[in-house]
Amino acid sequence: MQGISSVMPVPEAADHRQSGSGLEVKDVGIEYYVDRHQAFFRAVENATFTVEAGSFVSIVGPTGCGKSTLLRAIAGLVPYTTGEITWNGSPITVPGRDRAVVFQNPALLPWSTVLRNAAYGAEGHGHARPEADRRAREMLEMVGLTQFVDRYPHELSGGMQQRVNLARALAVDPDVLLLDEPFSALDSQTREVMGGELLRIWEATAKTAVLITHQIDEAVFLSDQVVVLSAGPRSVVKHIVPIALERQRVPEMRRSPEFLEVVDSIWDLTRSAWLKAEDVS
Ligand code: ADP
Ligand code: MG
Repeated sequence: MQGISSVMPVPEAADHRQSGSGLEVKDVGIEYYVDRHQAFFRAVENATFTVEAGSFVSIVGPTGCGKSTLLRAIAGLVPYTTGEITWNGSPITVPGRDRAVVFQNPALLPWSTVLRNAAYGAEGHGHARPEADRRAREMLEMVGLTQFVDRYPHELSGGMQQRVNLARALAVDPDVLLLDEPFSALDSQTREVMGGELLRIWEATAKTAVLITHQIDEAVFLSDQVVVLSAGPRSVVKHIVPIALERQRVPEMRRSPEFLEVVDSIWDLTRSAWLKAEDVS
């Protein structure tokens, strides 16, 4: 596999898994055309990893290494130059109802209520308003905002706004939930609470989840597998680390010696993978 220096062994796929199921990112390279330079800028050199259907995978890497670029490519929002991305065997080239993205910034419509904001995505995917509202209410209940459906975004805390954002993505009922640093604007305590909530929701809805995060402990707590990208530009997947901690994960686990050991081992892997970024910062 070109550009991959070391890939840790990934456990054999479960027996129930059908061939071609899940998300496959294979030899993906992504370039942007920069008008000012009249040249292509290769943000991602080679990304190869698999997200088994129903699993939770996190992608970690230093700022600017192409995490958002990669997630947007999986969402179908950014074209990839080389390689292939498939969901259940079908190539991904455009956005689709099977995938929903939760961005770092909730970007809620300020003039719309929590309910309308949460229903917005489902309506955009062609659901009539009653059905979109039903889905939105159900997901707002799941994220704990039932009492706030008539509020406006400015009346909510940052954590509550991000809950609406999550409800909006879930109301589309996607197969794959793509999360781009959804908690990075939140204080550390709220962030930890939201991580637990995300886990609960992922378990309840049986979605496939791909999370971008800076926080290695967050990645370990939530994931079945952590993908470590090297520093950009021309980043590559440096390591794929299976997280063998038992499910169900509970918040207390985050303080346990075995959890901290896994976090430490990934820190060790990232130190060399991210050196380039640290050098220039
Ligand atoms: P990350 O999310 O890991 O911080 P990004 O995916 O946002 O990184 O960006 C990866 C690289 O691609 C960066 O060098 C960034 O400047 C560049 N980049 C991102 N978006 C564009 C764009 N629209 N045009 C040109 N370069 C871009
Ligand atoms: Mg980013």
